[in-house]
Amino acid sequence: MRYLTLKTLSVQMTLLIAAIVPLALFGLGSAGAIYVITRAHHDLDVRSKLDTVGAFLSQASRLGLLTESSENLTEPIRAALTDQDIVHVSVYRDGRLLRAEQEIPLPEVLAAGFSSEALLARYPDGVRYRPLGLGLLELTRIVRYPVGNPEAELLGFAEERTPDATRLGDPEGVIRVVMSTGRVLAEYRALRLWSAAVMAAVLVVAGLIALALSRGPIRAMVSLRDAARRIGAGEFEVEVLDLGTGEIGELGAAFNRMSQQLHGARTEIEAYQRDLEGKVKRRTAELNRALVLAERASRAKSEFLANMSHEIRTPMTAILGYTELLLDGESVLPTTARDQVRIVRRNGTHLLEILNDILDISKIEAGRLVVERIPTDLTQIVLEIASLMRVRADEKGLFLEVIFESRVPTAILSDPTRIRQVIVNLVGNAIKFTPEGYVTLAVSYDAEAQTGWISVSDTGVGILEEKLPTLFEAFEQADSSTTREFGGSGLGLAISKRVAILLGGDCDVESEYGVGSVFTFRFLAQPAPGASLAAMEGEVEIRPRATSPLPSRLAGRILLAEDGVDNQRLISLILRKAGADVVVVGNGRLAIERVQAEPFDIVLMDMAMPELDGYAASRTLREMGFEKPIVALTAHALAGEREKCLSAGCSDYLTKPVDRAHLIEVVQHHLVGETKPDEPA
Ligand code: ADP
Repeated sequence: MRYLTLKTLSVQMTLLIAAIVPLALFGLGSAGAIYVITRAHHDLDVRSKLDTVGAFLSQASRLGLLTESSENLTEPIRAALTDQDIVHVSVYRDGRLLRAEQEIPLPEVLAAGFSSEALLARYPDGVRYRPLGLGLLELTRIVRYPVGNPEAELLGFAEERTPDATRLGDPEGVIRVVMSTGRVLAEYRALRLWSAAVMAAVLVVAGLIALALSRGPIRAMVSLRDAARRIGAGEFEVEVLDLGTGEIGELGAAFNRMSQQLHGARTEIEAYQRDLEGKVKRRTAELNRALVLAERASRAKSEFLANMSHEIRTPMTAILGYTELLLDGESVLPTTARDQVRIVRRNGTHLLEILNDILDISKIEAGRLVVERIPTDLTQIVLEIASLMRVRADEKGLFLEVIFESRVPTAILSDPTRIRQVIVNLVGNAIKFTPEGYVTLAVSYDAEAQTGWISVSDTGVGILEEKLPTLFEAFEQADSSTTREFGGSGLGLAISKRVAILLGGDCDVESEYGVGSVFTFRFLAQPAPGASLAAMEGEVEIRPRATSPLPSRLAGRILLAEDGVDNQRLISLILRKAGADVVVVGNGRLAIERVQAEPFDIVLMDMAMPELDGYAASRTLREMGFEKPIVALTAHALAGEREKCLSAGCSDYLTKPVDRAHLIEVVQHHLVGETKPDEPA
């Protein structure tokens, strides 16, 4: 509901009220004053007329009263009645009516007579005014005449001694005059009416003048308001016209200036905007070109890295494989040569690690590292790493302990290779940077959050606080002196953190310089379907890893399809030494021909070969109905590679450089159909 308040009044209404209200108030006040004044005047007028007539009669009736003659009263009474307002005159002598004349029938109250004494008792000056109703006013006046000098009295010189109640005994007369007040009253009423009418006319005229005067400013305001609305709606070229010369005219001029400036500003902004749009378009095109170039460069870099990795891994397979053979228990190297070969093996292994790190970080940065989600036995991974690392810890005289702080599922959905990579890196660092004391690997699991935690703590050199924020960045090393001492590429933690994030978790550190460090690796660990909670809890014993005793001798015919001559020789040597019968071919097409010609118990298939590669060859073999195991050999340690090989029809998957013991283990397993041994880290 809208109430009428000063704020909601229109300007015109306000002006009207402003003009009329003071006038109306003034008019009301004047009318009140006029009423009060005329009222008083009316009473005074009536009384003074009565007094005049009363005084005239007192004088004129003297002869009649003294002679007690009604005739002598005729003249004065007629004279009094000539006044149109006097309607009755009566004269009494000593209580007796001498003469009464009246123009209209009068009320009975007059006939009732009166007692002079009673009158004098209430009105000591002998004069009474009495309203008779019906607009009639009566004057009763007592007159006395001294009788000492009758002549003088008769000549009219006698002093009228009225009223004097003490002079009872003097002849006494009473004059009654009745006057009709109606005419005088009507005159005053007419006066009042006239003044009210004049007042009303003044009000109306004032209102009309206010309306007429306000029309101009109001029209100006309305056109200003409309113009402001149009400007508000974005129409800047508005001009208000004809507002005159007063303040409103000035306001209009200011308004027009403002609208011109707005229009100018908008034109400028539009021009600027067009210019900007053009610039943005040009920049976007440039950026797109740059982006295309950058993407092309990045693809080229990734392809180069993938190829290089293949190219480097293949000779590394040969280098490490032959050093392995040279260090084999059966070789007859002199001790110094043996030591030198060990140095070659250690550096070769290190080189391979660095190569793997560089590959990983470039893949992660190109967003091309895909993590798997397959059933993963966390307990087994932790125990394996512990037994692998115990050798290094023992060498440095460190205690390595493993604690299961809670029970973990027997299988979680995650990427075993990547989990292993992070833990190996953290434990490796802990051992590397701890001169003495403990390295503790703790495992915990939160079933509700489906999250696993691995924390690796050490009593090592610790990390300076200012180094902590950048520790996980690529190529960052906390302390160049320790790096010189311990070696390393500065990529391990960067890879670990990014892998942890890809696994749905994170990697963090807490450390105190000179006291030790705690690295925590968190990852999503949804239990695999059918998994239960493993029994392992508390501190567990780490069994030393079996120092790869060569597995039992291989008995079977093996077809090795491999294009690299060094690898052909190395792998066939390892297999033959283990007792197998090995046939070697250089590409996929030859492999197919060979299988068609002779029976084989197992095929080892290199995936990257000229003419027909391993994928196509495996697929063809399976299509031909070959049912024996095919084990893929690949230098691509990428996620997804395994699936690619398996979907091509391979039964298993081995990465190069080939670990001698693992190769024999896998071949053995497929020859006799045992449970599959796990890949080494
Ligand atoms: P690097 O190959 O140099 O070890 P990392 O990324 O694994 O590369 O580690 C980066 C740096 O972090 C190391 O050079 C070392 O200074 C510091 N660091 C890592 N782990 C530890 C630890 N457990 N104790 C002390 N310093 C560590």
